[in-house]
Amino acid sequence: MGPGDIKKTLQEEAKRLNIDKIGFASADPFTELKERLKDHRKAGYESGFEEPDLEKRTDPRKTLPNARSIIAIALAYPTRLENPPDSKPGAYRGVFCRASWGEDYHRVLKRKLEGLKVKLLELVPDAKVEIMVDTGALSDRAVAERAGIGWSGKNTSIITPEFGSWVYLGEMITDVYLPPDQPLTQSCGECTACLDACPTGALVAPGQLNSQACLAYLTQTKGMLAEEYRNKLGGYLYGYETCQAVCPYNRKKNFTQHEEFHPDPDQVKPLLKPLLRMSNREFRQRFGKMAGSWRGKKPIQRNAIIALGRYRDRTAVPDLIHLLENDPRPVIRGTAAWALGRIGGSEAEEALYRVKEKESNEQVMVEIEKALHECGIQETANHRTYREA
Ligand code: SF4
Repeated sequence: MGPGDIKKTLQEEAKRLNIDKIGFASADPFTELKERLKDHRKAGYESGFEEPDLEKRTDPRKTLPNARSIIAIALAYPTRLENPPDSKPGAYRGVFCRASWGEDYHRVLKRKLEGLKVKLLELVPDAKVEIMVDTGALSDRAVAERAGIGWSGKNTSIITPEFGSWVYLGEMITDVYLPPDQPLTQSCGECTACLDACPTGALVAPGQLNSQACLAYLTQTKGMLAEEYRNKLGGYLYGYETCQAVCPYNRKKNFTQHEEFHPDPDQVKPLLKPLLRMSNREFRQRFGKMAGSWRGKKPIQRNAIIALGRYRDRTAVPDLIHLLENDPRPVIRGTAAWALGRIGGSEAEEALYRVKEKESNEQVMVEIEKALHECGIQETANHRTYREA
């Protein structure tokens, strides 16, 4: 069977496997990307989650010697939550971004790629194949762009004409030659909606993201979230997607053909307060299969505390005090102090004074001092309102 026929058979197999898009690219080094990545690193814009070896990141042959082709795939995911549960005072909810809805996409894409691999090995039994989804050395986006899956948007997402940027990407490298597809010629044109909408200015230029200021990345960090970002999260527990939500190519798009990605409303929009006391076991049971659980419980709890503080939920005060007084993790104690400062009131203030006497962590102490200052400001304001009334 010739390369063209192998490609055609794989395209048919992709259809049978319910893969939304498939594209083929050469496995030549991504030379231009390497230069861009060097500048990106120099500017300090990396997240730290990337493959550190730029050679490996841009040369498929560092992963698979004699690589000749890359097969890229895309699966579209849902964007609409049917019957979303209410978020209301005393029962506020947080939200996981759409890319975390349903079963972890890494697993789903891997299964699809394994299916394609089986077919390729049927056709070329001695083929060498390496599968990658997101955590591989290569840039999924650069591969998808070269394989004609979509173009690279100013928001750094791959935008497909059919599904917008609501797609998961994966690929496999092989030493089999397969005729490459052409990259798309479409582009964002004059649009700058994502750059204008980004609340932190993380999109420093079209197609250039400072990950250190990107809320999607920051929700996944485990340390204290810098104060400037705490009020910008908007209830997100994992991920952030404003730069996708505002994109005209994403408007009114919702893809439900993959049952694996169907969201459980109560899981993707959970009540915030129960998250604060959740054990590791409960966390794994409830969220372990979602992509958004990969960093563990701590970032989700920290973000839940931030959301409660932001909503000024007075009913959360006892739980927050419990964390402030008892949690062994300074990040959780410090964030709880911040939330109590935002919510204010005598119960919160008394707890902050109490804990101040025994807290030994410097960072937590800073948060307690600031929270007490915040309580003081609120009290003065309340007092003034009371006197003026
Ligand atoms: Fe491109 Fe506009 Fe979409 Fe940004 S919002 S990715 S500029 S089309």
